[in-house]
Amino acid sequence: MTPSFDADAVVVGAGLSGLTAARKLVTVGRTVRVFEASARLGGKIRTERFGGAHVDLGAHWIGPGQPRITALVKELGLATEPQPLDGDQVVLVGGELRRFTGFLPRLRWGATLDVAISTLRLEWMRHGVRFDGAPDDRARRALDGRTAAELADSIVRTSEARALFDLSVKLIFGVAPDELSALVFLAYLHSGRGYLSLTSFEGGAQATVLSGGMGQLVTRLADALSPRVTLEEPVTALVEEYDGVTVHTSRSRYRARRVIVAVPPPVAQRIRYEPPLPASHETLQRRSTLGAWTKCVLEYEEAFWRDEGLCGVGLATDGPVQLVIDGSEPGRGRGLLVAMVTAGHAHALAKLEPRERRAEVTKAVARLFGPRAAEPVAFSDHPWGGDRFCGGAPVALPELGVLSSLGGLPRAPTGRLHWAGTDLAERWNGYMEGALESGERAADEVLGAL
Ligand SMILES: Cc1cc2nc3c(=O)[nH]c(=O)nc-3n(C[C@H](O)[C@H](O)[C@H](O)COP(=O)(O)OP(=O)(O)OC[C@H]3O[C@@H](n4cnc5c(N)ncnc54)[C@H](O)[C@@H]3O)c2cc1C
Repeated sequence: MTPSFDADAVVVGAGLSGLTAARKLVTVGRTVRVFEASARLGGKIRTERFGGAHVDLGAHWIGPGQPRITALVKELGLATEPQPLDGDQVVLVGGELRRFTGFLPRLRWGATLDVAISTLRLEWMRHGVRFDGAPDDRARRALDGRTAAELADSIVRTSEARALFDLSVKLIFGVAPDELSALVFLAYLHSGRGYLSLTSFEGGAQATVLSGGMGQLVTRLADALSPRVTLEEPVTALVEEYDGVTVHTSRSRYRARRVIVAVPPPVAQRIRYEPPLPASHETLQRRSTLGAWTKCVLEYEEAFWRDEGLCGVGLATDGPVQLVIDGSEPGRGRGLLVAMVTAGHAHALAKLEPRERRAEVTKAVARLFGPRAAEPVAFSDHPWGGDRFCGGAPVALPELGVLSSLGGLPRAPTGRLHWAGTDLAERWNGYMEGALESGERAADEVLGAL
């Protein structure tokens, strides 16, 4: 390394993608600095303790077909356990509460058939749809000009099946189907092995939790990188010169040969770039948005739902809460229910006073789990919209027409800048697996260039 450089590479952001990129570079002897804007590590991975148990307020599950995250968990010596599913699930759809087991809630016969057929049609439609494609591909442009709601209009017939479809979109993306491009929707499904994969617990993306919480992934990666990671030092400008990049942060300036920006595109927009970015990157940053997601933690003296033969999973197509799961740690602490509030419901909840938020969410959970759920001993809510450096959750979604016009997600290096983040992943876009893919790819690009 020539003395005029502080590091071979600077990584912007200590989320999973940034830490993965830094680790790969350090492993082969490169010098690296990681700057994180926030006072904590991990970005959209965040584990906190409630009632003696660890609860994931961000990334929650690991599923089959995710080789990188599975290997990382193994390498770090961490253990997974299945999402507790012993007992019935409950679903509130069309104003009626039903108990069920397996993937399909028991609905009217016609609605059950409709869910099955529309799921098959979605699987068929998403097959082969990728984020990348030719900008002049008319079929992609047409799909990108429609919303996921319009797509559903053409394949879902009954009101119950439609309500469940809308619910699934809100839970996967943090937006309503009429806010989402049909092309982005199908490409995302394909990148995560399909609709069934993304909506299922057993055998799907919600299969297993990490004992002790996902936060361990980022603390262990950062510990191995220490002292190269600095918190509370946002990168404010990246100025490219003939031989390197000057990185301006809130505190100082650094020189690096290469920079990896591992930040969601709408948040990366706040950094000043000299020279200005090419139109494709600039467009994605300006014309993509993150969804809205709030997790609420309700603590009870005990996991009372188990006495009633329930596993703690509840789905609701009406009301402020869309999904509830059992977040208790086996054999430790109190009974915990984690309620997920997404899309417009999360925006509406954020406008209420704390007491009203607790009342609204508790009432909705009690509709699913009965009067014992109405009296939690403690309640807290955690909106991702309030995290200014994550900007929302779980993933940046290009507006209608943007993905097709760009010919895909712009992930190629621009000069000495390289681009990471789950939002740019080809496989498991939006998931931790995608964050690892993108971090490894960006590190490989830097190594190739150095
Ligand atoms: C509620 C929720 C549930 C989820 N559930 C799952 C799940 O079950 N399974 C799964 O696989 N994934 C899940 N995810 C998604 C998963 O968390 C993300 O895919 C992954 O953590 C993204 O990592 P990243 O590094 O790409 O981005 P981020 O985690 O967003 O990291 C970006 C980092 O950059 C920092 N930053 C921003 N601007 C600057 C700047 N100017 N200078 C320096 N630093 C900056 C941010 O503070 C942040 O730490 C969930 C996410 C949420 C929020």
